Amino acid sequence: MLSTPHMLVGAIVVKTFSNPVIGLPLALLSHFILDIIPHWDGGAPQPPYREKSTILKTGLDLLLGALVIYFLTRHNQNQAYLFLGATVAIFPDLAQGLIVSLNYFLKKNYLSGYLDFHARIQRRLTFIPGLLVTGSVIIISLFLMSR
Ligand SMILES: [Zn+2]
Repeated sequence: MLSTPHMLVGAIVVKTFSNPVIGLPLALLSHFILDIIPHWDGGAPQPPYREKSTILKTGLDLLLGALVIYFLTRHNQNQAYLFLGATVAIFPDLAQGLIVSLNYFLKKNYLSGYLDFHARIQRRLTFIPGLLVTGSVIIISLFLMSR
């Protein structure tokens, strides 16, 4: 799943569960649930990072998610907590990127169990159907965020 829906759902989860002991683990769990839903995400940048379009797509996706959350929550006194929920919700992908990079540059195979698990739960669709699912998650999230 793209980062924007992960971030929006994470922010909604912590907005719903204001106790961080409950909200933050649920925001983390939301990541894996969204990855199980069939989707298109264009893939993650892979070392040696020669595919500039994937890097650009990922950067714009993260920026879009952050900007949407910023504008939707700019008057919310718990904005920092909502951003924390969004960050926790994309942490599994951020961790994967860090692990894959370290493994590539150090020529190691650290945390391969996690990488295998994260890859195995993905349910990918082709571009148009996958983008319709991803877009639906974003639209529902925007509706829930604006309430
Ligand atoms: Zn993921």
